[in-house]
Amino acid sequence: MTGDFEETFVLIVGGGPVGLTSAIDLAQRGVPCILITENLETATQPRCNFVNARTMEHFRRLGLAEEVRAAAPLAKMHPRVAFVTRFCGHEFGNIDLLKTRLSEGQLGPESGLSISQLFLEPLLRRHAEASESVDVRFGTRLVALGGEDGAPIATVEDVRTGVRKRIRSRYVIGADGARSPVRRHFNISMAGDDGRIDNAFVSGTMITYFVRAPTLLEESRRAPATITWIINHDLRAFVFAQDGRERWIIHYQVPEGLGWEQVRSDEVMRSIFGKDLPYEILAEGPWTGGLSLVAAAYRAGPAFLVGDAAHLYTPLGGFGMNTGIGDVLNLTWKLAAAYSGWAGPNLLDSYEAERRSIGLRNSKIGIHCSKRKGKWLIPPTIEDEGEAGARARKTFGDFVVVDDLDEYDTSGLQLGERYESSPIVCANGTAAPPDTWSNYKPADFPGARSPHFWPSPGRGFYDLLGRDYTLVDFESGEPLEALLEAAKLRRLPLSVVRCPAPGQPYQSKLVLVRPDQHIAWHGNAPPEDPTAVIDRVRGA
Ligand SMILES: Cc1cc2nc3c(=O)[nH]c(=O)nc-3n(C[C@H](O)[C@H](O)[C@H](O)COP(=O)(O)OP(=O)(O)OC[C@H]3O[C@@H](n4cnc5c(N)ncnc54)[C@H](O)[C@@H]3O)c2cc1C
Repeated sequence: MTGDFEETFVLIVGGGPVGLTSAIDLAQRGVPCILITENLETATQPRCNFVNARTMEHFRRLGLAEEVRAAAPLAKMHPRVAFVTRFCGHEFGNIDLLKTRLSEGQLGPESGLSISQLFLEPLLRRHAEASESVDVRFGTRLVALGGEDGAPIATVEDVRTGVRKRIRSRYVIGADGARSPVRRHFNISMAGDDGRIDNAFVSGTMITYFVRAPTLLEESRRAPATITWIINHDLRAFVFAQDGRERWIIHYQVPEGLGWEQVRSDEVMRSIFGKDLPYEILAEGPWTGGLSLVAAAYRAGPAFLVGDAAHLYTPLGGFGMNTGIGDVLNLTWKLAAAYSGWAGPNLLDSYEAERRSIGLRNSKIGIHCSKRKGKWLIPPTIEDEGEAGARARKTFGDFVVVDDLDEYDTSGLQLGERYESSPIVCANGTAAPPDTWSNYKPADFPGARSPHFWPSPGRGFYDLLGRDYTLVDFESGEPLEALLEAAKLRRLPLSVVRCPAPGQPYQSKLVLVRPDQHIAWHGNAPPEDPTAVIDRVRGA
């Protein structure tokens, strides 16, 4: 405490999955920070259900992947999507998610995992709270931001006692969600689709019911599904399994012209279940579907927007939190560089240059899938018993399982993030494969996520890399001293890993890998001007 301020290097506003992950990484990098979040507990009304392969890679680097897997009750369930008329009605199509996730697992050390925010957030909170350099304060709200550019001062309030304090920090991370007070303070607008989209399946006012329905699975007489789409002429809804037994998240589209408070939950439940079954609503609340919004700026002076504060997506495909975790792990190593004194003056600006384009790129899938589903022509006889109904369901089912596949087969979006035009990457014209949603193609080019391979059983390429920059030497036989000397001169922490050349897709013998596993520079011989390379990758 200095004067009437507490002091820290980074103030994180928001203790959702993105803010908590930033605290864990900053702590591992030894950067002092305070995390404040107005909620007293982690999420009680879960939204996010899918941690994708790239996020699992990040969790692996943070030492959390095993624990996340162990905390996911659904990890033991065969992941699949079911298309049904009612939960206890006819299933007319399904998609085996294991097949789409297997390709992720072959292209990286981890594959995606179905885990509810209910289980993920407490785990992240525990890890953040266990770190000595992080002070985690649940029940603390940001009420005002002031101070000067170089030293923002936050006024924060204990939501239980009303006691106010001031915190001065060098930087602020706005991980404060959709309504982001940090974003509002800096008058940063959001642009894109705002939910008023004709007939999109998930759009406008949606209600989430978090329910316990102990007999629902048994009464459905179907194999358990991770995601169940309810398709009929009365309503639009989808259901996520939470524990594989009795807890479910049900998302329901509120009919136009009706306020969400006017919805009769008993009628909705009966209609979704297709039967009168016992259930208990554990939590409920509205949200807006059909969004595809990205902030006009990701940085304002000392403040950085991450996660839902920076972008709001329609959740189909599951890219909101996953993109947010990618944001924050692009930022934290740069803040750590600023803390340690080796960041060049442009390093922190590269956060917006790199992540805003990813925010825009990832904003498209959810709304695309929602609009596409909205165009489905549901057969009039979809719920009829007898042969005509069965035929209609078969034809429609065969169509939807193909039409809907792009929502789940997203290895390109997950693993193909690239920063080839970044000011801190040494682009050299190496051809990059097209940036596609599915069919990720590993490639060795500056800006790409470095392609994964297994140097030894169970030990992935990323497991060899250091916490900071790593120079990977694939048996180049070249002298590395000049590059190492240049790094030392600029105090850029650089470790060297020597590894047998893996062959394709690596074409270069020397690869400079960033702390976030992306390629900063590559070549078959050390650069002619090593200081220029080191200066570029540290944002000088
Ligand atoms: C139905 C649905 C399903 C989804 N499924 C997925 C999925 O499968 N995969 C996926 O990646 N994403 C999914 N998402 C999106 C995902 O839930 C969000 O992207 C994610 O929760 C954003 O995390 P965050 O940490 O940025 O923000 P939040 O989780 O919103 O956390 C923000 C935090 O900031 C705090 N805060 C706000 N104001 C203040 C203040 N003044 N002072 C202090 N603290 C404050 C809040 O209390 C909160 O804890 C889904 C979303 C929905 C609606």
